[in-house]
Amino acid sequence: MLRLPLTTDQRTEYSRLTVTPDMDFPHLFLVVADALDSGLVIVNAERTVCYINRRAEEILEVRANLASGHGLIALLRDYQVDALASEVLHDHERRETTIQTPLSKRTLRVRCSPLLLDSTLTGALFLIEDVTHISQLERSRRDMVANVSHELRTPLASLKLLVETLQSDPPAPVRRRMLGQISHEVDAVTQLAEELHELSQIESGRVTIQLAPTSIGPVIERALNRIRPQAERKNILVQAIIIDNQLPVLIDNRRIDQVLLNLLHNAVKFTSDGGQITVRTQTLYVDETGTWQTEPAVSRDNTPTTALELPDLSGFTSRLPVIHSAGLWMLISISDTGIGIPTEELPRIFERFYKVDRSRNRNAGGTGLGLAIAKHLIEGHGGRLWADSRERYGSTFHFTLPVG
Ligand code: ADP
Repeated sequence: MLRLPLTTDQRTEYSRLTVTPDMDFPHLFLVVADALDSGLVIVNAERTVCYINRRAEEILEVRANLASGHGLIALLRDYQVDALASEVLHDHERRETTIQTPLSKRTLRVRCSPLLLDSTLTGALFLIEDVTHISQLERSRRDMVANVSHELRTPLASLKLLVETLQSDPPAPVRRRMLGQISHEVDAVTQLAEELHELSQIESGRVTIQLAPTSIGPVIERALNRIRPQAERKNILVQAIIIDNQLPVLIDNRRIDQVLLNLLHNAVKFTSDGGQITVRTQTLYVDETGTWQTEPAVSRDNTPTTALELPDLSGFTSRLPVIHSAGLWMLISISDTGIGIPTEELPRIFERFYKVDRSRNRNAGGTGLGLAIAKHLIEGHGGRLWADSRERYGSTFHFTLPVG
């Protein structure tokens, strides 16, 4: 005779049972209940927990033999669910609610039904689903709409103002200046529309990445040449230290151009006059445990360089700060001596629309979409994109590309 609560050994034992037509019902129930994708909790009419299936143990992070025999509150740590159970036990109507777990902050949908035997109430049954992922998607969709309207409102408000001023027929020099401002605002809205379109194409899997073996040196030089005029206007020194130039990387040229330009553009934007931007490459061998090794950095004329400010990038063995596939990779690092990014903000800069402290960005422009797009594109190549930074000292953005 099986008695509840079950011990872990008993669970393992019956989960191995073969289901047969003559199997006794308690065993059949336990096998089926543990195969359910939802958490199942049964309470008696006094709201004392009588049974918890395996999925409920996982979702609620409890052990069945510890929770059985206790009240619902001890199990769910939520008064709302206890009140829900009271109502269901009182009027025999099904109800559902959504709660957040106090520790892991997961979102759970809890549905409660009365258990009736010949119209006599014997308890209640809870079906619990972890809907954290769905609620995150819903939140991100809501945030997206809020962010787009926020980003549109500023340029549209200033366009309206500029047009109204032009309608009052101002003198020619003012008119010229205003037309320049209008063109600037229209560019900002166009950039937002283009980046939004691009992001949606990437996220819906409609962007194909066509890989071809390519030498990375010329790709970097091309990007640097495009960014140089902008950097020179701020007296920023731009240099490249490219090693292992002979090893081809497997890339979609146009996409990597786009990533490099985005990172270099940010580096120029967030570095003050007289600063420095350095692009370095080096090969990494990543093993199955995510540990990587690199040769000490060597410049083109084969002299060791001290330009690498991150000590663990020169000849050390370390774990990558991101989950990374094994193999041979080209690491490309773009360092600047700019304003840097506060440590607590670093993980968030790759989120759509995220900008560090909007007040310091006011004159910098930008949509906050560039890094989200770059991250997708690098991951489309199988690589990773991440950043290191010290506020006021500068930032380094790293990405890896497959050597092919
Ligand atoms: P944006 O269009 O605003 O530049 P990104 O997605 O490219 O959008 O960057 C997101 C935010 O990350 C920026 O607004 C900025 O706050 C921060 N950021 C990116 N690159 C740098 C950098 N090199 N130095 C300092 N902050 C940076």
